[in-house]
Amino acid sequence: MITLFSMPVRRTKRGADRTALSGASDVLICGASFAGLSVARELAGSDARVMVIDRYEIGERQTSACAAPTEWLRVMGLEASLLQTFGDLVIHTAHNSVRYPLPFTFSTFDYRTLCALLADQGDFEFETAKVDGRTGETVHTDRGDLTAPLIIDAMGWRRVLAGGHDYQPPDAPLSRGLEVHPAGSGDELEIWIDRQYVPAGYGWSFPAGDEVRIGLGSFDPGFHVKDTTNKLAEDLGTTPWGYQGNWIPHQIRAATGDGVFFVGDSAGHCLPLTAEGIRTAFYFGIAGGRELRAVIEGRRTREEALRRYADFSDAHEWKYRWMLNTQRFVPRVPPRLLAPAIRAMGTKRFVDWSFGHYFRVTPPEFARRGEPEAAVRGAEELSAVA
Ligand SMILES: Cc1cc2nc3c(=O)[nH]c(=O)nc-3n(C[C@H](O)[C@H](O)[C@H](O)COP(=O)(O)OP(=O)(O)OC[C@H]3O[C@@H](n4cnc5c(N)ncnc54)[C@H](O)[C@@H]3O)c2cc1C
Repeated sequence: MITLFSMPVRRTKRGADRTALSGASDVLICGASFAGLSVARELAGSDARVMVIDRYEIGERQTSACAAPTEWLRVMGLEASLLQTFGDLVIHTAHNSVRYPLPFTFSTFDYRTLCALLADQGDFEFETAKVDGRTGETVHTDRGDLTAPLIIDAMGWRRVLAGGHDYQPPDAPLSRGLEVHPAGSGDELEIWIDRQYVPAGYGWSFPAGDEVRIGLGSFDPGFHVKDTTNKLAEDLGTTPWGYQGNWIPHQIRAATGDGVFFVGDSAGHCLPLTAEGIRTAFYFGIAGGRELRAVIEGRRTREEALRRYADFSDAHEWKYRWMLNTQRFVPRVPPRLLAPAIRAMGTKRFVDWSFGHYFRVTPPEFARRGEPEAAVRGAEELSAVA
């Protein structure tokens, strides 16, 4: 069992410390962030030999603004990573500001602590290695080859294990995200739908203890967000510092392919419109992990598990499509109409209804342990609704 939470996190191995790596395991999870660690969590106690690899140490490189529904963090046993909790969302447009009282709370959290807590719930060996590709059941890394019959790509949008070199911005359906982390404090979870910052997308300010995470997400990958991220940070009275950015998928993709399970951003599981990809990485990571566990325990073949996980992910496609259509529609609304529309939609009844549906895209009770068949039930329920 890895117990990183109580240990100082090592820096990624460099130079002579990067010894050769080889060997076989039952399950090889590539990517040790939200998705990969959630898969590993479901395999704890299964007796499977689980190997997790990442190019960085666990929790070393923050991959997001780290805001998620509090309930998801609670059901995953990650409360100790929480920094601040918010019951309202304040939306700014070019013409007004509106406060939406949410039917559930969001919390910001400390990435390193969260990853350590999540890793602590798993039972696996961990190594730092950069994955370069795959041939069948062999994954090639910069430290050598690793083999496993069950392979998971949880390495984000590049979908490295599919050899996805033709899926690149600006042509692929990817949004552009950039944020800064100035020191400071605040009490509000705020977003900006304002074209002076980004023509299609939104800006955010998420206070997190002694820093504020201020950023921009552009649905158009061609829009360079750096200047206006700086502008938003400066307009908020801070000095931009601590840049962190990445591409964010906004279109769901096949969750399996050529015998590999794709989870989180590698399967496009991040939600369009809001770019929320943490709870979806948890959710699909759990679903994939449960299928893998069934294989380990001899209840399913690998092919059955691949098919069921793919069906489960596909059952959500219509919700993703609906959100992607909204993502395409909002930037077309003239600003003078957007402001009154945002105000009109701020009634408690409408916010409860719309955010309630949004929340239910990934119901947090799914994470409860002791429901090994829940993945499939969830898929069946969703298929019935669709
Ligand atoms: C600026 C920004 C802010 C965001 N804010 C939020 C937010 O507040 N809330 C929210 O819900 N979502 C947010 N998102 C989206 C969210 O970050 C992603 O959807 C989420 O991180 C996906 O989780 P994942 O585990 O699939 O991938 P990631 O978190 O990206 O993890 C991938 C892991 O794979 C590793 N890896 C990658 N390539 C290799 C390789 N070749 N070899 C070995 N390891 C590799 C990485 O080191 C990393 O640990 C934000 C995104 C951005 C860019």
